[in-house]
Formats: sequence, structure tokens, C-alpha cells
Amino acid sequence: MSYAPKPEAIPPGLINLYSDTQTKPTPGMREAIARAEVGDEQRGEDPTINTLCARVADLLGKEAAMFLPSGTMCNEIALLVHCRPGDEVIGASDCHILVAEGGAPAALASVLVTPLRSVRGLFTPADVEAAIRPPSRYAPRTRLLAAEQTANMGGGTVWPVAQLNEVADTAKRHGLATHLDGARLMNAVVASGVPAAEHAKGFDTAWIDFTKGLGAPVGAVLAGSLALIGEAWRWKQRLGGAFRQGGICAAGCLYALDHHVERLAEDHAHARLLVAGLAQLPGIAVETPETNLVFFDVSGTGMTAEAFCVALEAEGVRMGAMGRTRVRACTHLDVTERDMRTALGAVERVLAAVRRAA
Ligand SMILES: *Cc1c(COP(=O)(O)O)cnc(C)c1O
Repeated sequence: MSYAPKPEAIPPGLINLYSDTQTKPTPGMREAIARAEVGDEQRGEDPTINTLCARVADLLGKEAAMFLPSGTMCNEIALLVHCRPGDEVIGASDCHILVAEGGAPAALASVLVTPLRSVRGLFTPADVEAAIRPPSRYAPRTRLLAAEQTANMGGGTVWPVAQLNEVADTAKRHGLATHLDGARLMNAVVASGVPAAEHAKGFDTAWIDFTKGLGAPVGAVLAGSLALIGEAWRWKQRLGGAFRQGGICAAGCLYALDHHVERLAEDHAHARLLVAGLAQLPGIAVETPETNLVFFDVSGTGMTAEAFCVALEAEGVRMGAMGRTRVRACTHLDVTERDMRTALGAVERVLAAVRRAA
């Protein structure tokens, strides 16, 4: 996975399936942002942020919530609040906390993250049970269970809500705290028809991201008990995550809650369309999509994921290499059904060129 900034501008007309973070705010969202009432958030005086936090706390069934610049900061502040240095966090081996936050669990919270073997990002109560160390002066204290809904590297998979609550309950029975990374929780809500609070029920802290499928430019909201969010505020302040007139950003998030949740179903339909087309192409092995993330393996073409993505970009479509031969395409607000057909045409041209060269 490479997040290196590309110096060149994005070519005009590029169909950008690199991530669902690639959306630009819509005219309606920009209008809401322009109209936002604002104040000093650090002093609790930004009315738009206060409204957003109350709405997300309610949505997730928690007492309180806090606005933060990013989902990464939600995860890291949760680790800081739940754990002490030397504690152990358990989570799926390819979870975002472990693979995509720059080593922050070690650098900031001084915790170990022990990877759990998972199937498409999901693990079982037995896996949790087996990973929890008995209290001992030799062993690190297993302190926190972290789960992702949807599981990003798992394939955008949706935990069945019963299994999600069972792993959380297992952790709780052993005295662990629980944290839900809900970067794409609303995709799971739309795909499953189960309300967000049901997904978050077994978790002490949970958050949603507004810059993924929800299409806002900035912001994520972390929710939990009043006590935990109070403690989280100390870390927000310490890390420089407090806003001033951040209602400018929160207005985009409120707009997304009102206008961009139900439409996630369109992204899921586009993902299915893309997969149906890819499944017909020689050398490509697709994973069944559950939400807006499409993963496929290109080893059958003889190409690496990186080479495939470079060739595909030359054909006007950007996807991401997520491993040696695994490619990810994300559908989102800024791509259409027609873009899916165009993208499939581009993939066909890449494959035809490889066959000609062989
Ligand atoms: C994107 C993502 C994050 C981090 O969110 P940012 O807003 O990009 O910091 C955390 N967890 C998962 C599963 C993600 O996909």
C-alpha cells in the first residue's frame, strides 16, 4: 500500500477508484459549509460541532461524542484513553491501526498490537479467547479489543452484528475494553439494514468517518461514555486536535448525514457491477464484494498489482495496489454506473496488451 504523494496533477477525466476518500464536496455540501454557524470549539462554543456530536452520539447509542480531524486520530485517542504504556491491543492482522497509522500505537500510546488471524477481516469469540493472556507479571496486560466495521483490508466485509457483539462480549467478560473502528460503519448499516447503534452496542468507543463514503472533506466523530469522552478531550488538546471555528468542517458532516447515507446503496450496486464485469476477464480472480470495496487478484495475468495499476492509469482509471498481486477499487459519490463500464473497458485493454506482449 503506497500513500506517497504524486507530484503531477490528476489527469482530467481520470476515473478515480483509488479510494472513497477521493470525493470532492458537492455544491449542496459547499453551500451548507458556507452557511455554517461557528464558534470556538476548544471552549465548547461551536454550535455546528455541538449539533454534529449530539447527532453522532445518538446515532451510535453513546452518551457523548467528540469531533476530530480524522479517523486515525479517533483510533489513536481511543488507544490512549483505554490503555497504559505496555498494554496489549488485539485486532485483525490487517486492521488499519496496525498497518496504516504509521506505527502510532507504539509511538504514541506505547502499546503492543497483537494481530489476530482473521477470515476476510473477521475473527471469532474463540480467537479472542485464545489471544487474551492470563494475568501474569511476565506478560503484557491484554487490555483492548479493536474491530473494524466494515473490515477494510478484509474486503469491505460486513461483520454479522451478532458475531460483532459476541467478540465484544467475550472481551468484556475478560475485563478488556472494546473499540470499534467505524470508518465505513454507515456502509455496513446500509448493507445490513441494522441500525448503527446495534453495531456499536458492545463497544466502549466507536467512531464514524465523514471523509470516506459520506463524502465530506474533513472530520470524524468518536463516541463513548461521558467519562471516556472527557478523558479523550485531554488527548485531543495534547495532540493539537482541538478546533477553533471547526463548524465549517462539521457542517459538511451534518450535510452528509442528511444526504449521503442512503445513497451508499448506489456505491454498493456499482461495486457489484464492477465485480460482475471483472469476473468475466481472464487472469482476474475477484473477491465477492459486500459494500463499496472491490478487491481482486491479478496473479493470473502475470502482472504485479503495482504494474497493473500503472498500466490501468495510462488507460484513464486509477485503482490501488494493496499487496503484491491484490488490487483495490473503491466506488463512491463521484463515480457513476457509466464509469464502471468505462473502467471495465480500460481493464480489458490492459489485459489485451499483456496477452499481446506475451
Ligand atoms: C480510512 C480508515 C481509517 C482512518 O481514517 P482517516 O480519516 O483516513 O484518518 C481508519 N480505519 C479504517 C478501517 C479506514 O479505512
